[in-house]
Amino acid sequence: MAADAHAHPGDLLALFPGAEDERRRLAVPCAASAWNEGEFTLHRELAAAAKRDAAAPYRLCFAVHPQLPRGKTGSRNAGEAGFLRPLELLAEFAAAGSLAAVGETGFDLYDEAFRKTEKIQEELFAAHLEIARACKLPVVLHVRRAMHKIFLHAGSLKELPAVVFHSWPGSPDEGFSLLRRGIPAFFSFGAALMRNHKRMIQSCAVFPLERILFETDAPWQPPRGRAFSSWADLPGILRAAAEIRKEAGVPGGEVTELEEATDKNFYSVFGVP
Ligand SMILES: [Zn+2]
Repeated sequence: MAADAHAHPGDLLALFPGAEDERRRLAVPCAASAWNEGEFTLHRELAAAAKRDAAAPYRLCFAVHPQLPRGKTGSRNAGEAGFLRPLELLAEFAAAGSLAAVGETGFDLYDEAFRKTEKIQEELFAAHLEIARACKLPVVLHVRRAMHKIFLHAGSLKELPAVVFHSWPGSPDEGFSLLRRGIPAFFSFGAALMRNHKRMIQSCAVFPLERILFETDAPWQPPRGRAFSSWADLPGILRAAAEIRKEAGVPGGEVTELEEATDKNFYSVFGVP
């Protein structure tokens, strides 16, 4: 099965207790993103159990989610300054070699409430990039209405081993522009491919196969008509992507080919087992 480049297993398990059984049955390697200590501890336990049982592996990611500074009114309800402790933890985990990537970090300027925290998001992002650079870690980026911010940081992003755009939010031109600037960008696609998201489909049709990843962002990006996303969505995402690429006449027009290539990409970004 194709690897999942971005998911939140702790959040998913809270909604769907059978999630880990499903993941193991489908043999989905997963990059797990956490932003607090409890979640990270759970991910660490899941990873250790998977290793012990020779199940599909986890790769652990940690960052202060860019939505956190929005605080009490935010969807994640972190409270004012609730992100200071997570930032300390990130530095600890990264220095201890516990992480496969710093993420998800980035910018969320979706609406006025998020834009009010732009300055804090800016400071947090700079701190994350510094930790990633010092520890030679890839980053997983969450970017909403903020691609211009990413281009401002092109110089620092170029220095990292890999830059994964979770749920690729840009246009094909923006993607190629990042690559031309020497940023080791990977473009991750999820359920939006099945929802006729136009720019995502156009991007999936043209990017080089060695730059593509897939994700569920479970449980946060449900396919139409579902309450949450889970690992069982991956085959549908892959089929949609293969169809798009077949029609475009580019490599990766068959599911097996796409699966093999993106698995390889997953391990080149997050480390070989
Ligand atoms: Zn996410």
